[in-house]
Amino acid sequence: MKDTFKHQGLRNRLIQVLQEKGVTDHAVLSAIKEIPRHLYMDPSFEQYAYQDVAFPIAAEQTISQPYTVGFQSQLLEIKPGEKVLEIGTGSGYQTSVLIRLGAVVYTIERQQELYKKTQLLLPKLGYKPKYMYFGDGYKGLPQFAPFDKIIVTCGAPIIPRALLAQLKIGGRMVIPVGDAQQMMTLITRNSAKEFDKQIIEECAFVPMLTDKSLKSFS
Ligand code: SAH
Repeated sequence: MKDTFKHQGLRNRLIQVLQEKGVTDHAVLSAIKEIPRHLYMDPSFEQYAYQDVAFPIAAEQTISQPYTVGFQSQLLEIKPGEKVLEIGTGSGYQTSVLIRLGAVVYTIERQQELYKKTQLLLPKLGYKPKYMYFGDGYKGLPQFAPFDKIIVTCGAPIIPRALLAQLKIGGRMVIPVGDAQQMMTLITRNSAKEFDKQIIEECAFVPMLTDKSLKSFS
């Protein structure tokens, strides 16, 4: 599949929709405008690629809604060169937006089928994360911490302590917290022990699969 003028035109329309919904960050909008979202989806769903909806990918997972990708990216306030940890690589679309924003991305996926598929796809599209891991996002990547920013792209029943510990002081984490429905939550780390929690709006993600031995933060 190619990226045609028609696709580019559809992306321009999508950008307008996202602006109306509140995604206003210029760098984020331009990343979404440049990245051919249809190439991250099954070709038979191409016609849905530029509608503002989430869509099935593989292993019963979804590619996030463009608004969600834009909104989470905007909340992160990424500056070029920042180290970003992403939980839930999925199709790699959000990963690509982060890379386009200049982030150095470390990403974790726990569905092997998706991990393998996306590992092959991303370099072909010209987006190379610094590290891609097949593993459990609840644990994060302590060996590469601290991270300037952390983004969780699945609905987390709790805020994993391991991820808080891996956030740099002054860093931001964006995470949907809850079960069937979640609240988009922005966490800022003020000091070694002090975190600020801001609940932004309701959202709906596929669940972050749990590990029973977790400790929570509220
Ligand atoms: N950002 C992705 C969203 C994919 S949906 C995209 O736009 O395509 C969320 C992803 O989180 C799924 O691929 C799911 O398998 C993954 N996931 C769920 N629980 C996880 C966990 N504990 N660790 C890592 N990834 C997880």
